Amino acid sequence: MPDPVDTLKVSDLPLDDLLACHECDLLMRKPALAHGEKAQCPRCGYELYAHRYNVIERSLALVLAALLLYVPANFLPIMQLNLLGLTSEDTVWSGVVALFNTGMQGVAVVVFLCSMGIPLVKLLCQLAVLLSIRWNIGRNYGLLLYRIYHHLRDWGMLEVYLMGVLVAIVKLVDIASLTLGLGLVCFISLLMVQILLEVVMSPHQIWQALSGEDVHAGD
Ligand SMILES: [Zn+2]
Repeated sequence: MPDPVDTLKVSDLPLDDLLACHECDLLMRKPALAHGEKAQCPRCGYELYAHRYNVIERSLALVLAALLLYVPANFLPIMQLNLLGLTSEDTVWSGVVALFNTGMQGVAVVVFLCSMGIPLVKLLCQLAVLLSIRWNIGRNYGLLLYRIYHHLRDWGMLEVYLMGVLVAIVKLVDIASLTLGLGLVCFISLLMVQILLEVVMSPHQIWQALSGEDVHAGD
């Protein structure tokens, strides 16, 4: 666990040696971590950062997996609905188009951005950041893109969309015959891969690597 810093001594320490807890704002001396170790806040127990193995390679594999899942998740049927002899297949994209065509253009744009547009931009930002570190090129652009990624994080709402789909399934299952599609499997897989990516792509190590410190050393 890191040592809390006496407020009177803060001005004596270089900024690079200081660390503030995101949850309770406790100011600490930054600890040196070995691979696989985690630093926790001594006051509230929040995980400050972790030093994970092969961050770049594992994150790249997950970003590529997420990008491969993105297309079927959005363009393959989430579910097939049979009601009174009528069959309809719904994809995320067809949902956006249907909203647009029924006069709800504003809602269609918001759904498109939160379920398709922003998640894709986020993944492309992560890919570009990881490649800029891996190939050691354009790290200044990498810094900019990683900052953009952090601003976009709150706007990609795949979880909310999935909740909407699950609620619709529960509501519709009594009045129509429903078949779950491959799109839903891909959508849930995409969500899982993105959650895993959030865990693996340790922000502390990415910022370090972007600022020029070698993240591969000792991996
Ligand atoms: Zn704390």
